[in-house]
Amino acid sequence: MYASPEAIAVQPCAVCKLQVPTAVLRFRQNIGMVVMRKTATMSGHLCRRCSRAYFSNFTLSTLLLGWWGYISLFVTPFDVISNVWQFMKSQKLPDPSETSAYAMLPPDHRVPIIGPSTKFKLVYGVVVYGAIFLFVYTTLHGS
Ligand SMILES: [Zn+2]
Repeated sequence: MYASPEAIAVQPCAVCKLQVPTAVLRFRQNIGMVVMRKTATMSGHLCRRCSRAYFSNFTLSTLLLGWWGYISLFVTPFDVISNVWQFMKSQKLPDPSETSAYAMLPPDHRVPIIGPSTKFKLVYGVVVYGAIFLFVYTTLHGS
């Protein structure tokens, strides 16, 4: 269920580059666009702080925008389950408050996330959920 102690290594995190305890993790994101899919993957040695950021960003995007497509409908549950599994592995890593190396980061430092921009996700989300709302509304109140 959790990463074995041997799986935790002190080496540079693939994202923040700090020399902190890391585990080899892989987070996936799927955005279904009916006939196309937009995917992103972050894999490698990740620290607890960066893995938490990738888990929340990728999993939330996949849960909200992942379902819309024939392939995506089947890929999305697997990606979400996989991300939860990877996140559980990351919880074996020491908390950032216990790791002094994080003090080297500026207080307002944010984990840079690869993949589709937040703006893209927001616009796409508004379009998709707006279309669903309109469909449901016109179905219920149609003439
Ligand atoms: Zn990191």
